Amino acid sequence: MTRRPKYIFVMGGVMSGIGKGITTASIGKLLQARGFKVNLVKIDPYLNVDAGTMNPTEHGEAFVLKSGLECDQDMGNYERFLGRDLLSDDYMTSGMVYREVIEKERQLAYRGNCVEAIPHIVDEILHRIQRSTKLHQSDVSVLEVGGTIGDYQNIMFIEAARILKLRHPEDVLFVFVSYLPIPPKIGEMKTKPTQNAIRLLNSYGIQPDIVLGRSEQPMDEKRRDKIAEFCNIRKDSVLSAPDVESIYDIPINFNRMKLDRLICRRLGLPDRRSNFNQWEKWVDLTHQAKEPLKIALVGKYFNSGDFVLSDVYISVIEAIKFSAYHLKRRPIIDWLSSQDFENKKQSLKKLNEYDAVIIPGGFGSRGVEGKIRAIKYVRQQGIPFLGICYGMQLAVVEFARNVLKLSAADSTEITPKSPDPVIDIILEQKEKLRQGRYGGTMRLGAYPAQIGRGTIEHQAYGADLIEERHRHRFEVNPDYIERLEAGGLVFSGQSPDGRLMEICELPRSVHPFFVGVQFHPEFQARPLEPHPLFTALLRAAIKKRH
Ligand code: GLN
Repeated sequence: MTRRPKYIFVMGGVMSGIGKGITTASIGKLLQARGFKVNLVKIDPYLNVDAGTMNPTEHGEAFVLKSGLECDQDMGNYERFLGRDLLSDDYMTSGMVYREVIEKERQLAYRGNCVEAIPHIVDEILHRIQRSTKLHQSDVSVLEVGGTIGDYQNIMFIEAARILKLRHPEDVLFVFVSYLPIPPKIGEMKTKPTQNAIRLLNSYGIQPDIVLGRSEQPMDEKRRDKIAEFCNIRKDSVLSAPDVESIYDIPINFNRMKLDRLICRRLGLPDRRSNFNQWEKWVDLTHQAKEPLKIALVGKYFNSGDFVLSDVYISVIEAIKFSAYHLKRRPIIDWLSSQDFENKKQSLKKLNEYDAVIIPGGFGSRGVEGKIRAIKYVRQQGIPFLGICYGMQLAVVEFARNVLKLSAADSTEITPKSPDPVIDIILEQKEKLRQGRYGGTMRLGAYPAQIGRGTIEHQAYGADLIEERHRHRFEVNPDYIERLEAGGLVFSGQSPDGRLMEICELPRSVHPFFVGVQFHPEFQARPLEPHPLFTALLRAAIKKRH
């Protein structure tokens, strides 16, 4: 770090879900392309200490860092855009911050002072922000403040941002991402909600430096003028960010709009040339891929009121895309509800329409029997299959039931008193649950696995030792391993001590590609480095198609 670090806060107005996370990741990418050291921080205002205890209906499946921290899906986007692992220190929730302050108070760390939201909570937030900057030795930290301006929950973080600006006026920049609705009945883009949101932000003592207007269509001059004038912002800093086909286009669009130059100018950073070639080439590839590849994701649907949440498995979806583009194929990913296979709303024959089937991770009993039926079908029909975590465990259950003829075989997650518990709780996990310790206590984060030579997996990875991220409480019951192997299932990857089964597969002589993994390969798939396992699955899928 050669100069004082700079801080960019990304905040959002009008409503959530308008792409603050992608904006943050894209700004990071732009500055990275200019050769600056960048770190990205996600601030989640909820009181959960991490995202691990939250139902996926809230924010999608948790993303798991290498360290094991369970966090928001945005962190996955950050890693994918930067092409780098993030640290636990790059994530904070109100729960984490308050817990730390309360614990310090219990230890008399405040020496008898009255402990208050201001300054103590705000100080703790600033301490965390600066710790992350220091750990990465960043030139620039880009921080996304979750929620929307006007929420009660994120006020402390906004206050921390204000204080940081007060202390370092030259080094802090505020980017405001706002929504400009085009009500169909009116047919005109409206700026008033954004004006009001900025006024509210002003009332907290913050004046945005740059406004990004998100909308279905580009913002015209007239509306840029309006926002500039009414909100006291230079017109060159009111930018239009209309919807695009792919999130990976966004850094390129921002670069064309010269957002990076604007940021550098406003922060007094040197105006370096940016090297974007690799990313641009890759994005071109995504647009060129024409020949389709059809992948089914068999999982449970999550409803939110009258709507179905479709990006719950976002990391899996992105991992499929990266490998597909790498193989010059256009991925068509369909969600199939496993429950529909149970109640016969959907015939298993539907699966023949796909070149590969994936069963992602999951918890609990809803839709499980449908997943097991789907696994039996793809195993017997020779459809390329990848089971991830729960998907692997259920593949083992299916194999035990239908090949070993242990008809009541199950995971103890579903049938605690199963006569054939082929999947059982990991011993240490049992104790944690008995004590009611649910948060952050699964087997989490990166662990190594040894891969057997001559297996599908060994060919895919081209390595003897791999490291992948985990998030589970259950495992293949060691008492059944011999029987499963005798029946023809190969445990091709194991923990180095040989205790935990990490990968299972059927030999190629029996099935073109049938693989289950106890870990989550999707967390380590990156645009420029597609994951070898997904690539191997899709290679098999291409073969099937022809
Ligand atoms: N429910 C299973 C377990 O806890 C699988 C978890 C997962 O798929 N992430 O082991």
